[in-house]
Formats: sequence, C-alpha cells, structure tokens
Amino acid sequence: MSEEKQTPRTDISTLGEFGLIDRLASGITIRRKETIKGIGDDAAVLDYGGEPVIVTTDLLVEGIHFDLMYYPLKHLGYKAIIVNLSDICAMNAIPKHVTVSIAISNRFSVEAIDELYDGMKTACEAYDVDLIGGDTSASLKGLIISVTAIGSIQKEKITYRSGAKPGDILCVTGDLGAAYLGLQILEREKQVYLASPETQPQLSERKYLVGRQLKPEARLESVQYFQKVGLLPTAMIDISDGLASDLMHICKASGVGAFVEEAQVPIHDEARMQAMEFRLDPITCALHGGEDYELLFTVDPKDLDKVRFMDSVYIIGEITPKEDGIQLHTSGGQIHPITAQGWVHF
Ligand code: ADP
Ligand code: MG
Repeated sequence: MSEEKQTPRTDISTLGEFGLIDRLASGITIRRKETIKGIGDDAAVLDYGGEPVIVTTDLLVEGIHFDLMYYPLKHLGYKAIIVNLSDICAMNAIPKHVTVSIAISNRFSVEAIDELYDGMKTACEAYDVDLIGGDTSASLKGLIISVTAIGSIQKEKITYRSGAKPGDILCVTGDLGAAYLGLQILEREKQVYLASPETQPQLSERKYLVGRQLKPEARLESVQYFQKVGLLPTAMIDISDGLASDLMHICKASGVGAFVEEAQVPIHDEARMQAMEFRLDPITCALHGGEDYELLFTVDPKDLDKVRFMDSVYIIGEITPKEDGIQLHTSGGQIHPITAQGWVHF
C-alpha cells in the first residue's frame, strides 16, 4: 500500500456561496492605506484623495444566471449593467463608469453581440454612466459577462452594511418577490414551449412580473433623494439574494438582530395572485425570491419624517439587539425566525 498522503478534497457545496467567500476573504490582507473597505460590502471603497472611489463587480454566466431561451440579449445587456449600478447605489454612491468583459462561443453572431451591447448602451445612457473598457475572449460554451462599476461619493455619505443600531427603522424602496415570480413564469413558458413548440407564450397577463425579471432598475433616484433631503441611512444593502439573506448580511455586519412585520412587506397585487396560482406563500417569495434590486436600509428614528415623504418607501420593521435574532412577525400574530437560505417552514 502507498504511504502517500491523500490531498483532502472538500465539495464546495459543503460551504455554500457565503461560506466560500468568507473562506477566501480570511486569507486576504489589506496592505494599502488607500483601501478603506475591502471584501465584505456591496462594493469596495478606495481613497486616493478627493472623493472616495467605489468599486464593485458582478459576473453573469449563461445557464446559471440567465437562460437565452427567454432572456432577450438586449435585456440581458441592460441587466448586466444595472446589477452593478445597484451595488454602487447600495453604498449611497453615484455610479459613473463601467467596464464590460465578455466571453462568447461561436454560437453567437455579430448581430447577437450588437443586441447585447445595445442593451448595455441603453442602461449607460439612462443612468448617465460611461462605458470605458473591458476585455473580449472566446469561450468553449456559452456566454459569460463580467461588469465592473465604479462610482464615487463624499466619504461621510458612504453607507456600509455595518452601521445599523437597535431601534433603527428598517425600510425598503419598493415591492419584493415580483422578479422571482416573473422568472417562474418564464420557466413555465419554456417548459410549455419545449413540450409543444407551436403554442404561443402566455405572458401578456403578467407584464409587471415578467418586466421586473427582464428589466430591473437600480434605485439611483433613492440615493439622489437621500442627498437632497440630507438623509443618511445608518446601513444599506441592495436586495439581490432576497430580503432574508440581505437582511442577514446587514445584521451580521452590524452585530444586531431585526424584526420584519409581514403585513408591512410590500408585495405587488400581481405578485400575490401569481404566488397563489403557483401555490406559493407570497411572503416566502418576498423573503427568498431575490433579484428585486430594491434598497434595504436602516435609519435612525429621528429621521423618520424624511423617510415618510419619500416616494415608494416602505417601513417594514426594526433593528433589535443581536440576542433577539432575525424574526418575522406574521400577519397572524406569530413570531418565526427568518433563515437566510431555503424556504421558511411554518
Ligand atoms: P453582492 O451580492 O452585493 O454582489 P457578494 O455576495 O457577491 O455581494 O459579495 C460579497 C463580498 O464578497 C463583496 O465584498 C465581494 O467583493 C466579495 N467577493 C465575492 N466573491 C469574491 C471572490 N471570489 N474573491 C474575493 N472577494 C469576493
Ligand atoms: Mg449587493
């Protein structure tokens, strides 16, 4: 028998995405005085003198993040930019520049890539952002898009995930769960099409939900409103993974707990109806759906009036001491722990 030592092999699934990032981050040291914030927030913060520079990056992989059977390339290009701008907004900063890198297989035509870039250019125009570079490569299979966004804001206005205190009010900028339900509709229509390609897709009744999935927006106008009225959230994150996960990130980074009032969580009527049709609980879709790209933020109670006058902002709960954990106060008057992954079992 060989005396050779076996190299350990651990499945990535044992760590999960967040566990893996924690593990990678634990081995990384910050050397430069310019690095104000490295790994661990929606974006990194760099100080080169003058306004700090805010940097974030996101990767979209065909078959993992999007399915080209129902994702038009123009929308995909738009979304690839938006998801990055959303992370800049989550720092309370103004997005200004993006770089775009793509890997494409020979399955894609020049016209297809033109469509993708049309969507990106539309997003850059809508958000007043310059596309300043990138990289292009062939890929063996499928399309990969990597976007980096760069923004800036005065140092004292940057909001981190880590500033929430017990007693702070928990707010969200728009309704939740719709993008997830839009995706479920597109998936269902794909299955129908695969079974019988002659049938026409039934999307017209659920325009809002499909639109929330295919054409997300970043909440730049909320950031602009904060600046206008002099409101500084104590903590902020964008909701990309679902209210439960993203609230957990704020709580973990701030060392606090929180409660969410089920009855106050904004859910669009169309989302409510569609959830019922899929035999899903609407609040479960709002908590775990993801891809809403709304801002989840906390404010000191003294700033409550400034929040009340804000368009489409909902007060959904409160920050509590860490020992209280993260709780859902249900409409039926019960209290349930909110867990970050999977579905809440009532
Ligand atoms: P978001 O959902 O806001 O895009 P992520 O959950 O993707 O944030 O990332 C959380 C933090 O971990 C960020 O600071 C991000 O830059 C960092 N991060 C993610 N993946 C890696 C990686 N492979 N190496 C180093 N840092 C990473
Ligand atoms: Mg984010």
